[in-house]
Amino acid sequence: MKNHILELINQEKEREEKTINLIASENYTSKDILKATGSILTNKYAEGYPAKRYYAGCEIIDKIEQFSIEQAKKTFCAAHVNVQPHSGSSANIAVYFSNLKNGDTILGMSLSSGGHLTHGHKVNFSGKIFNFIPYNVSPENEHLDYNEIRILAEQHKPKMIVAGASAYSKIIDFAQISKIAKDNKCLLFSDMAHIAGLVAAKLHPSPIPVSDFVSSTTHKTLRGPRGGFICCKAEYGKNIDKTVMPGLQGGPLMHIIAAKAIAFQNAQTKKFKDYIDQVLKNAKIMSKTFQDLGYRIVSGGTDNHLFLIDLRNKNISGKQAEELLEQCNINVNRNTIPFDPASPNNPSGIRIGTPAITTRKMTENDCITIVHWINEIINNKTNENFLKKVKAKIEEFCKKFSIY
Ligand code: PLP
Repeated sequence: MKNHILELINQEKEREEKTINLIASENYTSKDILKATGSILTNKYAEGYPAKRYYAGCEIIDKIEQFSIEQAKKTFCAAHVNVQPHSGSSANIAVYFSNLKNGDTILGMSLSSGGHLTHGHKVNFSGKIFNFIPYNVSPENEHLDYNEIRILAEQHKPKMIVAGASAYSKIIDFAQISKIAKDNKCLLFSDMAHIAGLVAAKLHPSPIPVSDFVSSTTHKTLRGPRGGFICCKAEYGKNIDKTVMPGLQGGPLMHIIAAKAIAFQNAQTKKFKDYIDQVLKNAKIMSKTFQDLGYRIVSGGTDNHLFLIDLRNKNISGKQAEELLEQCNINVNRNTIPFDPASPNNPSGIRIGTPAITTRKMTENDCITIVHWINEIINNKTNENFLKKVKAKIEEFCKKFSIY
């Protein structure tokens, strides 16, 4: 009998190979990490924590989880780490539930300014359970407006401020937000899901020393398996662990925790720092090239791995651009831009990120080539013949950058 799923996995592998992936939250993980995620560790139940399990046969499992915790602590200089959250969203739930009560007031960056759904959007558990007050970027320069955060904190007296974003291209001044939190006697929770790789490489200021809690995913710039983790000050460690398990989860995904350990270890190397350095160079040259071609880049440019393009002067919506580019084997996300007059389903912008193409070893010249293709595709959006020709060129180009 043919294995239908294995066939589909092969088809997906081929699609990945043939596509230029500019989705800022995606990456290609290493063969070792794939090996760990596909390993026999998936067989084991291990509710609890190292040396405190509710299941027999956890001697080796304990060593794996302990090693993963130690590597995370070393990578991020964290006092306490929990590596069990199944995702970034479940890490965030655990942080909220560990110290807050239903209805408590929290400040979080609005989705339209670049925040994440779990930072208080009304369709998400966060916005349903807690009283979120959104803060925005400044309408003038689209940079975080720390003054607005201070004013909102003084006005609403929140229990917690959430810092961090999914679609913000400038450096986040966690130290400044920490000062606002301290002055207003509230907790600071920083979500570094997008920038964890940059923080590990010391190419973005770390939120860890100035935050009470830091959550992250492992699969974005950190280039690990799909999952989450939480760092916190030692005094909150017990509470975080209790909230993750038994509060929110049962058995940990030991195959994923093993793979996270490999990602944490990799992130401590010079090779990884060089990789992140190239991610940043690639993002900078791409945004500059788009600007030279007459595109408006939100916030005026990028200091990290991603940027947003406002497409309103290009007579195409974010959704149309996403679909058009997908037709030519380029993946981007449609994205709202700050104060977007259009709906979130068909927003005015696209988000572009360089972590995945940089893992494929694409450098500045390749980035310039890709930007010119995107521009030509947008300018020739109704010319089917032209689109077919560019798609063929892109497939050929991708052959030079094999993923595995
Ligand atoms: N936090 C931020 C800032 C994110 O960008 C994301 C995902 O994009 C998450 C949390 C949620 O991560 P996950 O998709 O693993 O739940």
